Amino acid sequence: MKQLLIASLLLGSIFSVNADIEAATADMSKKTVSPTTALRVKKWIHGSIDCETNEDPAIEVFQYDQSSYILRQNKCLSFEAPFIYVLLGDEKVLVLDTGATKNALEFPLYETVASLFPAQRGRFIEKEMLVVHSHSHSDHRAGDSQFEGKPNVTVVEPNYTAITQFFAFSDWPNGEAIIELGGRRLTIVPTPGHQEEAISIYDPHTEWLLTGDTLYPGYIYVKNWDEYKKSIARLVFLSKEHSISAVLGAHIEMTDNAGEHYPIGTIFQPNEAALTLTPADLVALNSALEKSDKADEIVLDELIIVPMNAFQKAISNVARWIIQ
Ligand SMILES: [Zn+2]
Ligand SMILES: [Zn+2]
Repeated sequence: MKQLLIASLLLGSIFSVNADIEAATADMSKKTVSPTTALRVKKWIHGSIDCETNEDPAIEVFQYDQSSYILRQNKCLSFEAPFIYVLLGDEKVLVLDTGATKNALEFPLYETVASLFPAQRGRFIEKEMLVVHSHSHSDHRAGDSQFEGKPNVTVVEPNYTAITQFFAFSDWPNGEAIIELGGRRLTIVPTPGHQEEAISIYDPHTEWLLTGDTLYPGYIYVKNWDEYKKSIARLVFLSKEHSISAVLGAHIEMTDNAGEHYPIGTIFQPNEAALTLTPADLVALNSALEKSDKADEIVLDELIIVPMNAFQKAISNVARWIIQ
């Protein structure tokens, strides 16, 4: 009798363990991955060895949540393959950057952005679309003409006068500006260094810090080292005041090996690094900059910064002069 009792207790406990495992497995399969994790592990379209046979879309669209999107341009259209961010508020839609290609047939950016919110189509048309730029380099503003002249669209030119006026910066590059999209207040921070009019944007809804070409997983040219140092320090300060889920820039040029980047002009990046950087990367860069007493290449696992040479600065000055 005693043996029978022990046997039945044992059997009972085995069945209950099995039931627990089944319940846990069912639970796991039901569990959806959080948007932050999905973004961190996201593999983007990354070009082809032979672009003639590339069948990827001109623009890849990643929906982070109901009101936040990340777009990537196909490397077969431009090796720069920049990222573009679209943030929807109750009253306004912010489009950060317009890509590296002007032609709407090859690169239908306006159409793509306008089609992102079908559930809110009527309201979306009524919303003002605000097009701003992380900085003035042509791979971030070539698509501007697709937006210009469209109803309810404001394009803020990426030059000093337009930016300081629109954001009401009275002491550039000091201070911050606020852009209210309607239930979504963005903080705009001047971050010159890679380019004179560079800005970064903090979005409290996604907790993203959008850094353009100031910080991304790649080989980053710095035009003004001292200004860049101050800009990174400014971003570290901001990252201590706000919760940040991801630091997101405008390109991927690193491979998934620490400290290794693809050569400039690469059109096929099968082993590229993730887009997402973290506040820890910001802090690491800031301390490396603080330790450096002169402008010199800094190689970190996730990114590399390098001072522009005199020739690159001269080219950059001419390009900037044209759009001022
Ligand atoms: Zn740039
Ligand atoms: Zn760029």
